[in-house]
Amino acid sequence: MSAQRKSFEEMAAGLDELAMVPTEVLADWVTARGKCLWETTFGEPPEWTCEADADRELAHRLCSGCPVRGECLEFELRIAGERTLGVWGGLNTDDRLALHKVWASRRRDEVAELPEDDEEGERS
Ligand code: SF4
Repeated sequence: MSAQRKSFEEMAAGLDELAMVPTEVLADWVTARGKCLWETTFGEPPEWTCEADADRELAHRLCSGCPVRGECLEFELRIAGERTLGVWGGLNTDDRLALHKVWASRRRDEVAELPEDDEEGERS
C-alpha cells in the first residue's frame, strides 16, 4: 500500500466516529463553528483556484486550527461526494476525491456488516 493510500485510509478511519451523526447536525456544527465562516465576518475569505498545489496550500492555511475540520470533511463527502470541488475539510479537490473512494468503500463495508432487521424490526 502506498504511503498516500495509507494516509487516506487513516483519514477515512478517523471519520468513522462521525458516521452516525445526522447530516443536519454536521451542517449546524460546521456553520456555527467553521473557522472560514467566522473569517467572513472580518473580511473576504481566501478563494480556491482549482489548481492542486495552490489549493493544497490554501487548505493547509485556511483549515489549520479549525475546530470542525473532521465534521466539515464528513459533511462534504456525504453531500457532494464525487462532485466535490474546492477547499473543504483541510483538503483540496484531488485529495478529497481520493479520500472519497476510500471513505465510500469503508461505509459500504460497514452497512454490509450491520445486523439485519427481523420481521418485527429487531436487530439480530
Ligand atoms: S475545515 Fe476549512 S473549509 Fe471546513 S469549516 Fe473549517 S476552515 Fe472552513
